[in-house]
Amino acid sequence: MSDLHETIFTCPHCGHQFNINVYDAVNVTKDPDLRDAVVSGDIFHHVCPHCQKDYLVQNDMLYVDMERRFMIWLSEHETGDSLVKFAEPFAKAGFKIRRCSTIKELSEKIQVFEDGLDDVLVELAKYDSFIDFINNKKGKAEDVTSVEYQHTQDDVMKINVRTGDKGASFLIPINMVQEELKSEADLYKVEDVKFPCINDKWIISLFEKENQK
Ligand SMILES: [Zn+2]
Repeated sequence: MSDLHETIFTCPHCGHQFNINVYDAVNVTKDPDLRDAVVSGDIFHHVCPHCQKDYLVQNDMLYVDMERRFMIWLSEHETGDSLVKFAEPFAKAGFKIRRCSTIKELSEKIQVFEDGLDDVLVELAKYDSFIDFINNKKGKAEDVTSVEYQHTQDDVMKINVRTGDKGASFLIPINMVQEELKSEADLYKVEDVKFPCINDKWIISLFEKENQK
């Protein structure tokens, strides 16, 4: 089941205190209605009843999809031993297990897994798109605000590289990135039970390690 608790939130703008519901765990197999609320970020969204200012309040939360077999821990902090222990049987059963440090990352990760993709593949495609963007002088590296997975159609991923409100789209065939993955399988190996963060920082750190060799 999904778990939630009520807590008091103090509005940073007007100082008004009000109760908010905070989800500690969301099991979308049991509560499918919560899926959209997580992906849109609405579940973390709270409005002050006094001054109407709205806030995004990120809390640690476990997101579980039993049907598609994945589990994501939303937290800015390293995963504790008890959660790793809890995840062990799921890892053995072949679940994808990840940690995301931001709501945006969580939302993208859910969509990637729902599309049936390997997120390592997606991060590689995002990295390639970023490099392509820079090499083709579509913009400067320092101006890039985000690189986002959009969707997959006919085995082709669509990736957006954004610079503020501008940007460029890239179409990356899955089999092309799969080849890249296969050629360095050891480098891209992921240990699910440890709740790895598979994101842009992770892929850059791999390449940095490789360069130091
Ligand atoms: Zn307020």
